[in-house]
Amino acid sequence: MTSQAIDSTVSCTDPEASSTLTVTTAREAILANISPILTTQRLALRDALGCVLAEEIVSPIDVPGHTNSAMDGYAIAGSGLPEQEQRDFTLIGTAAAGMPFNQSCRAGECVRIMTGAPMPTGTDTVVMQEQISLVDDQQVRIRKGHRAGQNVRQAGEDIAQGSMVLNPGKRITPADLGVMASLGFGEVSVRRRPRVAFFSTGDELRSIGETLGPGEVFDSNRYSLYGMLKRAEVELLDMGVVKDDPEALKEAFLCADEAADMVVTSGGVSVGEADYTKSILQQLGDMHFWKIAMKPGRPLTFGRLENSLFFGLPGNPVAVMVTFYQFVLPALHYLASGTPYRPFTLPAVSGGDIRKRPGRFEFIRGVLSPQQDGSLTVDAIGKQGSGILTSMSRGNCFILLPETCDGIAAGETVTVQPFNTLV
Ligand code: AMP
Ligand code: MG
Repeated sequence: MTSQAIDSTVSCTDPEASSTLTVTTAREAILANISPILTTQRLALRDALGCVLAEEIVSPIDVPGHTNSAMDGYAIAGSGLPEQEQRDFTLIGTAAAGMPFNQSCRAGECVRIMTGAPMPTGTDTVVMQEQISLVDDQQVRIRKGHRAGQNVRQAGEDIAQGSMVLNPGKRITPADLGVMASLGFGEVSVRRRPRVAFFSTGDELRSIGETLGPGEVFDSNRYSLYGMLKRAEVELLDMGVVKDDPEALKEAFLCADEAADMVVTSGGVSVGEADYTKSILQQLGDMHFWKIAMKPGRPLTFGRLENSLFFGLPGNPVAVMVTFYQFVLPALHYLASGTPYRPFTLPAVSGGDIRKRPGRFEFIRGVLSPQQDGSLTVDAIGKQGSGILTSMSRGNCFILLPETCDGIAAGETVTVQPFNTLV
């Protein structure tokens, strides 16, 4: 990635400027400074799960490739269905998936057929086996009430030969793997995944396995960051804990920048913090220290090092996660795909009152739960402090309360953004 100046129309020219940005402005400023990764690679189909497709997938075949039965039953010509009470058909053979019946079926005849078996010549209709009666082992009795053409899957009804199936830029889902496999693709061209280096900063931090001294805490941010980055389908480079020491920090920033497309750190960006992060970053790149009108997560550093984008997230464990979801994830999505990130949000009824003053965007952790009538209710988690990481663990969504909101009354509809879906 080439280095370029931060778009100064939305960020501050003085990196320490005290003006406050809105969440939307900050997000736009970030996206305006990203050049998506364009390098592609060919991967074995399974390895491409979660990658961004870099080619058009056009179908070389019809899927299904042959007109076949959707049921276990009896294949006949629909024109021979009984108009009166019933009609008996002579059983002339069997067709199974992968074992077609190769003769023609004439008027008054039927073929026993299994799901997925090609329709024998002369047939276009399947009567389910539960709906017939056997007169003897040669004769099958079918009653009225069926429709010609029923229970048959037409060749090409899912995918027609020559049709465009998947567009470049799409993130490959489990269904896409199945669709490409159904077309016989063993490899696929994708964009290279972003490489993200991350580390924690702080003299008080200890890694798991070490003994905590007075005032020290275990480094949890690197674990929640690991989890969020893992799900974001990137290549990870975990650089551990770095002390608030100028030499060590400079070394870590240089090393991370060399290896990665994006560097994410936590801690050391609080307003008034007497550490070295800011001065080193200003030496090494193009940096902005933003105060964002949001809670939690007010201070955020964003910028560029020589080769990479840089995010300096706050140290507080909840703020790390909120700023990751609101800024880093959209940035990663754009870096990986070149398409805007559209967070999945939905309306839900608030189970209780939520107090809020206008002026900043609040990301309240909540529990979204479906009600028996199908509606969704959301309840804010009790303790909302930016150090209360269990609120992220117990919650499954953010209740989004924009700047202008001045509180929510129980029963009001709010917008929520789930952060723990499906897996
Ligand atoms: P800072 O932004 O460095 O001032 O940190 C703010 C708060 O978050 C302090 O209470 C730190 O101890 C805590 N903190 C910073 N980094 C981490 C981390 N990696 N894991 C857990 N807590 C942290
Ligand atoms: Mg610190």
